[in-house]
Amino acid sequence: SFDLSVMDLYLSLYTGGTLWAIPKFLQKDMEQMYAYIGDSGADVWVSTPSFAEMAFMDESFAESLLPQMRLFLFCGETLTNQTVTKLNNAFPRAEVFNTYGPTESTVAITSVYISEKIKNAYNPLPIGTAKPGTWVYIMDENNQILPDGEKGEIVIVGDSVSIGYWKNPSKNAEMFDTMQIDGNTYRLYHTHDKGYYQNGQLFYCGRIDLQIKMHGYRIELEDIESNLLACENVERAVILPNIQDGEITSLSAFVVPKQSICSTLKERQRLRTELKKRLPEYMIPKKFVFRESLPVTTNGKVDRKKLEAEEKC
Ligand code: AMP
Repeated sequence: SFDLSVMDLYLSLYTGGTLWAIPKFLQKDMEQMYAYIGDSGADVWVSTPSFAEMAFMDESFAESLLPQMRLFLFCGETLTNQTVTKLNNAFPRAEVFNTYGPTESTVAITSVYISEKIKNAYNPLPIGTAKPGTWVYIMDENNQILPDGEKGEIVIVGDSVSIGYWKNPSKNAEMFDTMQIDGNTYRLYHTHDKGYYQNGQLFYCGRIDLQIKMHGYRIELEDIESNLLACENVERAVILPNIQDGEITSLSAFVVPKQSICSTLKERQRLRTELKKRLPEYMIPKKFVFRESLPVTTNGKVDRKKLEAEEKC
């Protein structure tokens, strides 16, 4: 059902490969899943970064398990420098690509090879450049194209943009438009993703709808998450707002530590101090919760709604 499956299905079959999908029941039994992955002899891997992170929970996920692995293609979520470093160490001969695109533009429309040079030069990593026949612009609220370096909405133009949602004219009017390029009319899609261009590369910096207002401050939850990820001993991090009477009153951080911690109290204090060096006071989460893992959706992305529900129980 997920648009990434289009990439899996057609890429493998069109290139004369064999498609080796992991059945759902195996994803619940890690031991069997690794055996199954090992049997595949796969040389190309397509998944979300969260799924690769899950695979790293077992140290057998390395070149010895998949000796032919030559290409990792990621899409759907932010690919972090940490995940790439782990992949480079575990699969030294494989190349890692970051790709980006929403369902509405028919899967990935930008891509970039994360070379050692790119990995060392950028944090966050770029999402690349547009494929031929597609244009990606950064626009402000008045649909004006912004210059390099300025943050705005990522807007996609081209033939791979969908003709619209099924029987939903009001949503279509909001999200889709057209644009003239060289005398031709192309479909245009407002992603509601934020981004900017730097040195010819496109960068993603969060969903417009993950931008909140708390005590009058505009805060990007993913901004806090990426700063937490840069702190010591943080493997994964998600920030959720706490709402009281319809108003956001504070933030909670959910952290998967790299190495198990002895005292949550001390770790909380340490992270708070480290974060304060990077962020203003109003962005520091009030609560820190340490977990072994984070829930993921059937699409393999971090499931914020499920995390919220789990924490309420
Ligand atoms: P979906 O339509 O479910 O595939 O989700 C598309 C959304 O996933 C995009 O609009 C982005 O918010 C996010 N996304 C896709 N690729 C990336 C990427 N490489 N880095 C960060 N976010 C991404």
